[in-house]
Amino acid sequence: MSPRKEFPLLMERGAPGRRAYLLPDLDVPAQPLKDLIPGEYLREEPAPIPELSELEVARHFVGLSRRNHGVDVGFYPLGSCTMKYNPKVNEDLASLAGFANLHPYQPEETVQGALQLMYELEQHLCEIAGLHRATLTPAAGAHGELTGLMLIKAYHHSLGQDERDEIIIPDAAHGTNPASAAMCGYKVVEVPSNERGGVSVKDLERLVGPKTAGLMLTNPNTLGLFDEEILAITDMVRAAGGLLYYDGANANAILGKCRPGDMGFDIVHFNLHKTFSTPHGGGGPGSGPIAVRDMLVPFLPTPVVEKREDRRASYFLDYDRPSAIGKIKGFYGNFLVMVRAYAYIRTMGPEGLRQASEDAVLSANYLMERLREFYHLPYPRICMHEFVLSASRQKALGVAAQDVAKRLLDYGIHAPTVYFPLIVEEALMIEPTETEPKAVLDEFIDIMAAIAKEAEESPEQLKTAPHYTVVGRLDETRAARHPVLRWRGAVEGDTTRDGR
Ligand SMILES: *Cc1c(COP(=O)(O)O)cnc(C)c1O
Repeated sequence: MSPRKEFPLLMERGAPGRRAYLLPDLDVPAQPLKDLIPGEYLREEPAPIPELSELEVARHFVGLSRRNHGVDVGFYPLGSCTMKYNPKVNEDLASLAGFANLHPYQPEETVQGALQLMYELEQHLCEIAGLHRATLTPAAGAHGELTGLMLIKAYHHSLGQDERDEIIIPDAAHGTNPASAAMCGYKVVEVPSNERGGVSVKDLERLVGPKTAGLMLTNPNTLGLFDEEILAITDMVRAAGGLLYYDGANANAILGKCRPGDMGFDIVHFNLHKTFSTPHGGGGPGSGPIAVRDMLVPFLPTPVVEKREDRRASYFLDYDRPSAIGKIKGFYGNFLVMVRAYAYIRTMGPEGLRQASEDAVLSANYLMERLREFYHLPYPRICMHEFVLSASRQKALGVAAQDVAKRLLDYGIHAPTVYFPLIVEEALMIEPTETEPKAVLDEFIDIMAAIAKEAEESPEQLKTAPHYTVVGRLDETRAARHPVLRWRGAVEGDTTRDGR
């Protein structure tokens, strides 16, 4: 028997006749099922699903939650993901009945509060971005990127410049950038980084031209570095007639400090579920609003929330926008994520947001300075909200970045992002966020130092990690190629459940 206690699947719990609910007696005449559902759809045998008591159901889900790691459980320095603590008051507000129970088809006069919240959130995001209007509709960062690129396309089309079919993207970019550009029908032109980790302006000069539709850039980039030549970059693209797209998924370093609009960008997407405190990571709803410069406003997707200043201010959804790119999502976006972001921005205030960014940058620099003793630091510059180490020294001992990441799990810490950005060999991308106390950062430093020592003294310990988690190291290739997505029962000789 393995020392890890087997966790029974829901399907393996229960016994015939157990129930987790009590229903009142039927007070209308009973109708046989066959009168309600056409016979061909009726089962002959009951479905083979477990019959469970309430206690068993509760234990199942609480048990599952305890096998999981989350920000509320421990440190989660997953680079490019901004796994900061999400204040619970935002959850309370998002679950108020007046927000949570709205129906998207309700008449406008009954949802004035929700529309006002959307209108004001848009204004706050525009102020943070240094731009003019925004749409809250995109459901994720990548969706915001696609929407922004559609605006770029509509803009050039309006000028009769359809020949602009290239989007320039740095080699350090997040993978969604080239994917979104390709999805929007653009050719992706890659611009290399220079030795200081910024965009190579020399190469950019060679790549911009009459085919350039725009440049997509993350600043600070995925190395956590602020581009020292940002104004030269944006000037060069604008002079060539291109638009500038800013990937602001991780805006945690810039809040109240600098504005993408001032750097010369025309479109910015934010990830409300990263920077603005919505729990994320489990595939739940996100929100990727984009803010734009005034010349792009006519193309924004519908509907746009507008304010009417008649008898008393009232808000309405404007669909009458002839140049709009159309609808990009059902209804208005993920509203309850907007409520959380609004609550976060209003409770923090401008000073609080600025402080959050300063603390996020301080935490990252503190970790970077202390950890470079144990791990190679390929770009030794002051970093922003995150930084990238390389496990190249450990690799020489036969230990890969992945082994370091897996070993961290044994210490109750979520792994950093690994093997990204692609331009760093054996990359370990670390983003501590502003919400961790110094004691946690110090503990992380001690653990990373201990792992570096293990790499020298007992590398096997790392290569076979994790040892103390509920499941050991999984065969990721097999999991990706042969995912087991549903319960198939305990069939004799069936080995497909091994990887559950
Ligand atoms: C997370 C992230 C994205 C994509 O955001 P999703 O909401 O996951 O689609 C894009 N760019 C960067 C830099 C990111 O970190």
